[in-house]
Amino acid sequence: MPRRTKIVATIGPASSNPEVLERMILAGMDVARLNFSHGSEQDHRDRVELIRSIAKRLGRTVGILGDLQGPKIRVGKFRDARIVLKAGDAFILDADCVLGDQERVGLDYKELPRDVYSGDSLLLDDGKIELRVDHVTNNQVHTKVIQGGPLSNNKGINRRGGGLTAPALTEKDMEDIKLAARLRVDYLAVSFPRSGADVQWARDLLVKAGGHAQIQSKIERAEAIDALEDIIAASDSIMVARGDLAVEVGDAAVPALQKRMIRLARQMNKTVITATQMMESMISSPVPTRAEVSDVANAVLDGSDAVMLSAESAAGQFPVEAIAAMARVCAEAEKQDSQTFVERHELDRIERVEKAVARAVIHTTHHLEVKAIVALTQSGTTALLMSRADVNVPIYAMTSVEETQRKVTLFRGVYPVDFQHGTEGPAQVMAQAEALLLKLGAVKTGDLILLTIGEPIGKPGGTNTMKIIRIGEHN
Ligand code: PGA
Ligand code: MN
Repeated sequence: MPRRTKIVATIGPASSNPEVLERMILAGMDVARLNFSHGSEQDHRDRVELIRSIAKRLGRTVGILGDLQGPKIRVGKFRDARIVLKAGDAFILDADCVLGDQERVGLDYKELPRDVYSGDSLLLDDGKIELRVDHVTNNQVHTKVIQGGPLSNNKGINRRGGGLTAPALTEKDMEDIKLAARLRVDYLAVSFPRSGADVQWARDLLVKAGGHAQIQSKIERAEAIDALEDIIAASDSIMVARGDLAVEVGDAAVPALQKRMIRLARQMNKTVITATQMMESMISSPVPTRAEVSDVANAVLDGSDAVMLSAESAAGQFPVEAIAAMARVCAEAEKQDSQTFVERHELDRIERVEKAVARAVIHTTHHLEVKAIVALTQSGTTALLMSRADVNVPIYAMTSVEETQRKVTLFRGVYPVDFQHGTEGPAQVMAQAEALLLKLGAVKTGDLILLTIGEPIGKPGGTNTMKIIRIGEHN
């Protein structure tokens, strides 16, 4: 059984040369993440082309996720690039300031003074620095330093408890959505959405730009927790974005929220990535800590579709080792039975034909000695529905549609197979599918497989049949 949990790795300076990318793909990178917060259009274009060409040469399918910067509120630049704040210091966030110094610093979001109040706790640089708002004048937020430390150019600002009202998509995000469409990315991550409407806004812009990507919502604001169902319903996928989320809701609240988000996403037939600091020490160490191993394993046991690397693969010294370590930890954790998802799946309502077929497949898997599940699919939907149950049987999504092959790279337990088939009849197409699976070594003669297919063939969204096939026996 191949590894079921997928690995997303962020591409950056440490992972942009062909030799490293090839080793990352071979080590198990399923999806490459482009961070639109950094790099030029040309950087992203070069990386996409490189990844696609290497993947093709290796005969692998690698999905591409483009991650919008979003309205992350940031301090401006300092005259000397960096200052050090001490507890008790007075410090001003000043919308009118151009170059910062020991007393004040500028803001990229000029409206911030309108959104904060005396007594608010502002957290800078992922919570490393805490400022307490003393009072607000026109364009200045006067604060007292509670937790000091070094502060350098463009560090992020969050408010404890959330509620900063910057709109969900900036001008830059809108440009980057067009870029995502041009690059034909497979997933588009929306940062800091507050509601389903924010997600829908991004989706509308993407569709208008001609993009086809799955929309992924990063859950990283306190308000997003209250709107979780609404956001998930509007999304194809979510990310447990623990970096910003921990700053807004408090780090100790995040582990339980992670479990809740994963459960809910799966229940609503969506996918979910667990992200941030999973292998943080591997930025500078070739081996993970015990705690990191546990974190990755627990994310797998929680039911994540994928686990993600950020700085570890983008800027660290050991991008390949970090992927290899994740792959090894995921595979081991998956040996545990995740029965809970199966039970939950049985209770889920069936309101669509393809869901009924998916359910029949999962049900049968628990009773017969099934070696593989095969979805002959256009859109990948049946494969997604079946994968929500997390059975211990590989699901092969066989399709001629390249976009679908790349989309399923994120689905837990689903493996894309490039399947160029004839248009004769279902019997011939199934025989071709069987022959290909035998050739790939995915099945052997005598194996029992479950196959889903839509008849007539080639009509998207038309899965209406489950076949139980003994390999090599029906012709
Ligand atoms: P980021 O998102 O890395 O783009 O900030 C992930 C997170 O906040 O955890
Ligand atoms: Mn974030």
